[in-house]
Amino acid sequence: MEVRYKSTRNAEVSVTASEAVLQGLSEDGGLFVPEFIPKLDVTLESLVGKTYQEIAYEVMKLFLSDYTEEELKHCIANAYDEKFDTKEIAPLKDVDGAHYLELFHGPTIAFKDMALSILPHLLTAAAKKQNKKEKIVILTATSGDTGKAALAGFADVPGTGIIVFYPKDGVSRIQEKQMVTQTGDNTDVVAIHGNFDDAQNGVKEIFGDKALAARMKERGYQFSSANSINIGRLVPQVVYYVYAYVTLVAQGKLAVGEPMNVVVPTGNFGNILAAYYAKQMGVPVKKLICASNENKVLYDFFRTGVYDRNREFVLTSSPSMDILISSNLERLIYACAGEDAKKNAALMASLKETGRYEITDEMKERMADFVGGYATQEQTAKVIRDVYEKTGYVMDTHTAVAAKVFYQYKEETNDETVTVIASTASPYKFTRSVMEAVEGCAEDDDFVLVDRLSEISGVPVPKAIEEIRNAPVRHTLECDKDNMQKTVIKILGLK
Ligand SMILES: *Cc1c(COP(=O)(O)O)cnc(C)c1O
Repeated sequence: MEVRYKSTRNAEVSVTASEAVLQGLSEDGGLFVPEFIPKLDVTLESLVGKTYQEIAYEVMKLFLSDYTEEELKHCIANAYDEKFDTKEIAPLKDVDGAHYLELFHGPTIAFKDMALSILPHLLTAAAKKQNKKEKIVILTATSGDTGKAALAGFADVPGTGIIVFYPKDGVSRIQEKQMVTQTGDNTDVVAIHGNFDDAQNGVKEIFGDKALAARMKERGYQFSSANSINIGRLVPQVVYYVYAYVTLVAQGKLAVGEPMNVVVPTGNFGNILAAYYAKQMGVPVKKLICASNENKVLYDFFRTGVYDRNREFVLTSSPSMDILISSNLERLIYACAGEDAKKNAALMASLKETGRYEITDEMKERMADFVGGYATQEQTAKVIRDVYEKTGYVMDTHTAVAAKVFYQYKEETNDETVTVIASTASPYKFTRSVMEAVEGCAEDDDFVLVDRLSEISGVPVPKAIEEIRNAPVRHTLECDKDNMQKTVIKILGLK
């Protein structure tokens, strides 16, 4: 059955999957959501032993129903190939009572690769389908990992260009170096003087500017988004929760039908929403445990039903989760508001105007699958050190937020359900914070720390890190947070 997409803010909108992928965001500012979540049309048993790519096809074909089998298989084959350093694509590691789903084996060593290695293929296939001749310009705000993964995904892809905005002082040094050394004639990287929310708001404003869109069209350009609001990013993320479940069955850790819990270190709420979709497809997921860092807006929301971004923004050791406006939460709000676009739009308007909204008790009940937790930076560092000392396994700061929340949840509830922790980045991406946690020291040179990390963990330095060790800086543009649109106009030569 065909799945069409509607807007979370306007009940009139209905587009195909490829249109939703190409457009990114609905014109009314809403997010595209599937009209219904399709159920897996094969049994979980039958997926045991299948490859990541095969499972990806079984899941994605249900959501992206206007792509042909050939198109979709082509996208999948080109995304999940030797760019990943393991055939498993997303291996599961059994460490100290939890199963770490390592989502960082792609080209930029963060979980964003799981979706951003396929998005360019989904986008160009969509453009072809719709006979679009315009060059697709990807605009992306990043808290560090999306930017690099999107740059790597789109670099030199014909018919596309990409402009990435990142908060100047809001990313790790390695993240910044990864971005500013990006090759590819169609790539631009801009540091903004502001935080991630500023970058994200700026991009949303540019997308919403109709006059600019008209000017772009005249010049043969069209904007699209690589941010996690794009359905073309969300859908590929559903795959690895199905894959994780099937892998646990294959390993004899779960009997088919037995539930698992998932713990997800959360920022923009895309990754955990994908787990929620996997559950609705028929994967036996019990609790969706949403782990926040000190920017614990989601933890407070799940506890109280009040979403309130009016608080101090904290720069933490898990910068990819330093977010106060979790864009993808809107999809959950919409679902729990009974798919009422008006109700959702009113809440989002309140968020925009006052920085807060409150949901009804009924809506809150519909979110009972979710549990919120959070970890401070001290707790995060301690978990990294404790798990390393106990097992030799070194995890990154984002994963450690989830690990801490997992231990807390288990202690509070005695819930013994088999648990998958989404491991969202390689420790090499956040070497400084990780090594401070493990050894309590802070060498000055990041690459000295990289070599030391390799020594203590026994894990070879990933290619993504070796590549940037001596790479020249290619991008030096900076701008004020209020000048993002001007910068885009300049880059595209629209004046
Ligand atoms: C983006 C990111 C997250 C947050 O994921 P969301 O889908 O935005 O919730 C967590 N960890 C890392 C390493 C990330 O790059």
